[in-house]
Amino acid sequence: MVTGNHRRQSVVEPRLKTLHKLLVTGTFAIIFALANSSTATAQKSKVQPADTVLLNAKVYTENTQHAWAHAVAIRGEKIVAVGEDADIEKLRGQGTKVIEAGGKLVLPGFVDCHIHFLEGSISLGQANLEGAKNPSDIQRILREYAEKHPGHGWILGGGWNYAMFGEENLPHKKYLDGLFPDRPVFLVGYDGHTSWANSKALSLAGIDKDTPNPPNGAIVRDPKTGEATGALKESAGSLVGKLAPKPTREEKLAALRAGMRWANENGLTRVHSAGGDFEAFDLYDELRRRGDLTLRMYIAYFLDPPELRPRDLAAIEAARKKYTGDWLSAGVVKTMIDGVVESHTAAMLEPYSDDPSTKGKLFWDLDKYRAAVAELDKRGLQLFTHAIGDYAVRTALDAYENAEKVNHTRDRRPRIEHIETVTAADIPRFGKLGVIASMQPLHAYPDEDTLRVWAGNVGPDRASRAWAWNSIAKAGGHLAFGSDWNVVTLNPWEGLQMAVTRQTREGKPEGGWLPQQRITLAQAVEGYTLGAAYAGRREKTEGSIEPGKLADLIIVSQNIFEIDPHEIAKTKVVETIVGGRVVFQAKAK
Ligand SMILES: [Zn+2]
Repeated sequence: MVTGNHRRQSVVEPRLKTLHKLLVTGTFAIIFALANSSTATAQKSKVQPADTVLLNAKVYTENTQHAWAHAVAIRGEKIVAVGEDADIEKLRGQGTKVIEAGGKLVLPGFVDCHIHFLEGSISLGQANLEGAKNPSDIQRILREYAEKHPGHGWILGGGWNYAMFGEENLPHKKYLDGLFPDRPVFLVGYDGHTSWANSKALSLAGIDKDTPNPPNGAIVRDPKTGEATGALKESAGSLVGKLAPKPTREEKLAALRAGMRWANENGLTRVHSAGGDFEAFDLYDELRRRGDLTLRMYIAYFLDPPELRPRDLAAIEAARKKYTGDWLSAGVVKTMIDGVVESHTAAMLEPYSDDPSTKGKLFWDLDKYRAAVAELDKRGLQLFTHAIGDYAVRTALDAYENAEKVNHTRDRRPRIEHIETVTAADIPRFGKLGVIASMQPLHAYPDEDTLRVWAGNVGPDRASRAWAWNSIAKAGGHLAFGSDWNVVTLNPWEGLQMAVTRQTREGKPEGGWLPQQRITLAQAVEGYTLGAAYAGRREKTEGSIEPGKLADLIIVSQNIFEIDPHEIAKTKVVETIVGGRVVFQAKAK
């Protein structure tokens, strides 16, 4: 990275050398011309102009020393000054681009700390069932999708949730078979943990009454006939999913471009990938080489149980060596130690309230998980552990505590992803152990799926500590926010509103769901900016609007600090700047 100072030296020094050479040869006319230009350089270097100045803004810097400013100057990829309009005006030269913010709010670029970017990007071109209320809504969306995508090919999509099926809580092939008797349909649930196939797709996969359940998965069967219903839990989904046509390299690149546009349009400047992108590193690298990346990517290696193998380590280390820049980097490992509450696959300390026969179970053997964590920690790698049940959360905390002890390491910032339930005793351990709580506010969205299915499964005691972001923060824990796109929308404005209201868009329930877990807007913004940068070990170069940091910032349509919190989700991004370059600009109305 070229800072202002370095650049000045590198320009002036060679010129002096040339001057010396010319003096020796005695070519007067040229000396005169050079002397003039060198004086000009010297004058300019007193106040070297910025490449871009952003004026007349309300800049929320996320810098505790100077929380607010009015203007920002950018040179190259970095912020060089933050202050009042008059100060920044001084850095305006002939070639300086001026962005007049019209008094609008400017924030550090937002980070999504938990995303499945390639998958989400591909889903932009598939059937999206998000927002459907019931099976007939779903059928309408699928019918429309099929009209736009005619033929006999697969219908792929996702975004359905358990509550859409009423008391049944699970999808069924009967809703698909009438519409699509000959066309295979495969629809992944919003949480990615349960899939839904029609009879055509089941038969292509050879699934019948006698097909055994795969490890860590279940083919849901009719209790009377034993026939597969079309609902496939966890790994059983891939029995069908693996048959679906895979996008080509060009299709993936096109999807990633569309995904980046969508992310920039929502104000994101960096994402932390929690799975599905490591295998696509070369695609991201191709985009980077062409200068087409408009979103910074921190990409985790997805480590599957049952153990950490030498070939996992080889892949992790090779990527860490190869991808080290501000745009594309590795050095982080994601693993899952349990599933989700809705399908009783999240690992609990006590049995589920609606089904006392099960507590869920860990996906890993306890000792193997602990050993893997210790080994990865020893190597200085960061860890993301998916843990949703209170037993899984405790297991991850224990493993991180053990790793620090045996390796004598500090400030590794291991993370737990999701943390939907947690015991009261484990809440202070986040702060004490320096474990980052990576949470997704919209997962706590208090709709029927959450209040009836989720809360019914865990029961009232565990539900009283559901998504306990305020308790964790109050006890000194660091929060990092994200979406888990395409589980829910990557729109962080909806996430912000949820974090501060704990209500649906319609303001339900009145008073908020567990209002004691609300946080302030400043805390929520931090979770998407400086807290997120800290959670990705980049707070020294990103996360706030300060001189020396990367120029990643956004201009937004309304001052979220001055409005009714129920209006935050309506915020629109006007302009997104990444590394000093405008990567998104809203169309003027
Ligand atoms: Zn995820």
